[in-house]
Amino acid sequence: MLLQIPKNSLDIYGQIHDMTSEFAREEIRPHAEKLDRDADFPSNIFKQMTDLGLFGITVSEEYGGAGVDCYAYSIIMEELSKGYSAVADQCGLVELICTLLSHYGTQEQKAHYLPKIISFELLVAYCITEAEAGSDVSGIKTTAVRTKTGWSLTGSKLWINNGPIADIGVVLARTEPEKGHRGMSIFIVDLNAKGVTRGPKEHKMGQRASQVGALFFDNVHIPEEALLGDLNRGFYMMMSVLERGRVGIGALAVGIAQAGLEAALEYSQTRKQFGSHISDFQGIQWMLAQMAMEISAARALVHKAAVMLDNQSPATAACSMAKCFASDVAVRQTAEAVQIFGGSGYIQGYEVERLYRDAKITQIYEGTNQIQRTIIARQLLK
Ligand SMILES: Cc1cc2nc3c(=O)[nH]c(=O)nc-3n(C[C@H](O)[C@H](O)[C@H](O)COP(=O)(O)OP(=O)(O)OC[C@H]3O[C@@H](n4cnc5c(N)ncnc54)[C@H](O)[C@@H]3O)c2cc1C
Repeated sequence: MLLQIPKNSLDIYGQIHDMTSEFAREEIRPHAEKLDRDADFPSNIFKQMTDLGLFGITVSEEYGGAGVDCYAYSIIMEELSKGYSAVADQCGLVELICTLLSHYGTQEQKAHYLPKIISFELLVAYCITEAEAGSDVSGIKTTAVRTKTGWSLTGSKLWINNGPIADIGVVLARTEPEKGHRGMSIFIVDLNAKGVTRGPKEHKMGQRASQVGALFFDNVHIPEEALLGDLNRGFYMMMSVLERGRVGIGALAVGIAQAGLEAALEYSQTRKQFGSHISDFQGIQWMLAQMAMEISAARALVHKAAVMLDNQSPATAACSMAKCFASDVAVRQTAEAVQIFGGSGYIQGYEVERLYRDAKITQIYEGTNQIQRTIIARQLLK
């Protein structure tokens, strides 16, 4: 499905912004509170997003994408996230897996999987983390052993987004265990195959509409053609697409923070204490100003990293800075939004209470912020 924006438009970014912003305001935000409360998967919203062409938008048109750049993707992620970050998170997950397939898949794999993923016919999962291997991916134990007809996969994955419902997973496994991270490969695994079982849906602090759970593999038969990219290069391939993933999470975090700022601006101009709107107090004004400054800085870092990726400049540090800074801003500034709401901000049903909970995970997934700082320092010191 092509993005419903004419590609020859003079202001394609402006139009993408306006279309996504309106969709998020009209079709996502009004449902966010209920989706959070019930931890429901928003299938209807995702169906509308496929109609608008919002999934896999950087994928080439040949495979059903819109063929736009990472900058456009970052705009979409921020706007969706202002509606509800769990919705943006699904868009980010699809983008991550489509990027992996686009960069490393065979012609057959791309032609078979990309259109089905973009149209949401196939739900996907990105499977790295294990009980003993979170930040240290080289510690994974899931192993694929060669058989006469392909591979046999055994192991387990933890906290996998879409784990309870996905049709296919891209799974990182050891293929030459003695070689550590140089002996890992990626397989496209049918999650309805014999030998795959799923753990229950986890109950999470935030982004509760995304469905996260464990996956277990017990001698799962993997056909030869399910190997994605080069044998034993899986670790590097998984890590390479995470740069784009971090731009996406950075943009998502900016969207959460911006939603918090907008809620705080509105509330501060209606709530009265001491005979005045609380926005008349300099203490509140300075909080709002600080929020706006930090969010603008975070957005600038996200856009810079996106443009660097689009220009194929080395962007490792820039992507980590964008993710780390924007997620720290989201947590800090949604806390400020709660503060501006006073007691109301602590009560369920107020948007800022949810935003504060939703923001926290952005400092943890796709590489914790400690790991981002380590990546940035490594780039500085090399
Ligand atoms: C809601 C949710 C969704 C997720 N979705 C997915 C998914 O779809 N696919 C997937 O594969 N994974 C997913 N994850 C897993 C996520 O990526 C990991 O939780 C994350 O990478 C951190 O790993 P960990 O939780 O094991 O923490 P650990 O690695 O155990 O870290 C614990 C603490 O130690 C710190 N730490 C670790 N090593 C260092 C170091 N060298 N220097 C300084 N500090 C360090 C960390 O920053 C953290 O503060 C998800 C997790 C959650 C909660």
